[in-house]
Amino acid sequence: KLSHDGHTYNPGKGSAGLHPGLKTYGVIDPAEKIGAAAEEKVWECIVIGAGYTGLIAARDLVKAGKQTLLLEARDRVGGRTWSAEIEGTTFEMGGTWVSHVHGRLFAEMQRYGLKDSVSMTRTEGGGAAYFTIDTGSGSRRLSLKEASEMTFRAWRIFINVDGQDGRSLCPLPYSSLGNSRVSREEVEAIDKISCQDRIDQVADQLTADEKALIESLVPHCTGGTAANTGFLEMLRAQALQGYTPETFEECWTLYKIKEGQSTLARKIFDDADRLGLQYAFKQPVRSFVEKDDNVTVTTASGMAYKAKRVINTLPLAVLPTVQFDPPLSKLRQEAIQIGHVNHLTKVHAEVTGDLRGLRGCTFPGELLYVYGDGFCHGDESTRITSFAGDNRGVLNPLQQPEKLVTALKRFHPMEIKKVYFHDWLSDPYSLAGPAWYSAGYLTKYLDELQSRHGNVLMANSDWASGWRAFIEGAMEQGALAADIVMEEVGIQGANAVVS
Ligand code: FAD
Repeated sequence: KLSHDGHTYNPGKGSAGLHPGLKTYGVIDPAEKIGAAAEEKVWECIVIGAGYTGLIAARDLVKAGKQTLLLEARDRVGGRTWSAEIEGTTFEMGGTWVSHVHGRLFAEMQRYGLKDSVSMTRTEGGGAAYFTIDTGSGSRRLSLKEASEMTFRAWRIFINVDGQDGRSLCPLPYSSLGNSRVSREEVEAIDKISCQDRIDQVADQLTADEKALIESLVPHCTGGTAANTGFLEMLRAQALQGYTPETFEECWTLYKIKEGQSTLARKIFDDADRLGLQYAFKQPVRSFVEKDDNVTVTTASGMAYKAKRVINTLPLAVLPTVQFDPPLSKLRQEAIQIGHVNHLTKVHAEVTGDLRGLRGCTFPGELLYVYGDGFCHGDESTRITSFAGDNRGVLNPLQQPEKLVTALKRFHPMEIKKVYFHDWLSDPYSLAGPAWYSAGYLTKYLDELQSRHGNVLMANSDWASGWRAFIEGAMEQGALAADIVMEEVGIQGANAVVS
């Protein structure tokens, strides 16, 4: 089914070649399944948002027999993770890669029969198997081994602030504020510095290329800049992937669900639907009002639904677009106003020939990293995937799509047939990428963001304890919030179905 989301750019037609909407398994049609008395009753729980946080929460709740209503602004499931199906090829428009270190995600893949259905970005033996480095002193090609060794050496110097690759400062990354090895003061002290501060500390140990690789890898990971991203963020990321840069690719950018992320999201939704979930898509929520222990949720179309508990999964950047009565705490409002740093762009291109082995970094640049990402539409062309960090004011893919083509060609001479992307920054239901924090943010605001607001539980990958900014973090948040609701509104028979 055709979703409202995503864009195709056909470079042959100048800026007139831009078209909205892509097909995906994620579209829910009909958009509503909701009883006539939905506005009169008091629901046990209303879940807002059908991203992975909301899907896991809604599925777990109906499995436990809870009367649950799911409200979503878009026409599809998956939120910031969805796959477009274009002439038989799958393009991941947001969240993409999976890994065995993402235990909750792998458990869901197992549950829905997808654990063995994995494909790889950067196929072994693919064409153009080298790394283009263009970091200020002209473009040249490195072997993949040379590029990896250069990156690992530089990254180790960057991370190794404690002589133990971050182990002493971030011994338990899921519990960065509450572990017994380091005091909160020590974590606060390290959280004061930005990635750029840390790069400046070690700059004399790095070559110009190595320094540029770190200055571009940080935005590649966080969608911000080295200057606006907190160093603790990278320490946590390194800890989560096992305190070594060697595992970066396999934990972050290698394995994908063959059938696409929307297939998994859809299976979770269909499971919940089968168990009695009621839902309404294309229904943006506007306000939450709590009175007499119940919360009334009002949508843009004026529908008002009441529940004992609400699980609100709106992303951090979207929270200012909804109203709360009583108002959010001052500290949470401050956190929302500051927001996070991720203003990334991700684009796919279909290019002629075999560029499956290609990788590269251009910095400074409008697109920072590129990966060959398998054949598309048979074996005549390759899908390549590219990322920019904070590109606000530099490259707006909706206004200047032709610039994407110029930026892509800096990695390698290539004939570009089509470009596909989702502009997450102008999308009113994301307004940013997944959250990475600036210096000082985690220690000051994370606890507050995770706390509940009366009977509204706040759950989103943007403030997960573990793999924040990943699908895994969304699943963590959805499962925890559903557990709280089950505890508080009482566990009923597992097979109770909503009437
Ligand atoms: P969301 O997916 O944002 O869900 C929130 C839902 O709320 C959305 O469906 C939204 O439409 C809905 N909503 C918003 N406003 C309203 C409203 N007013 N009323 C009703 N509904 C509303 N993660 C990985 O693990 N691996 C990756 O490779 C990876 N790559 C990524 C690449 C990109 C470009 C992006 C954008 C993200 C990537 N991520 C990746 C991160 C991952 O996609 C997210 O962490 C995860 O999808 C967030 O899920 P969520 O449910 O917490 O939030």
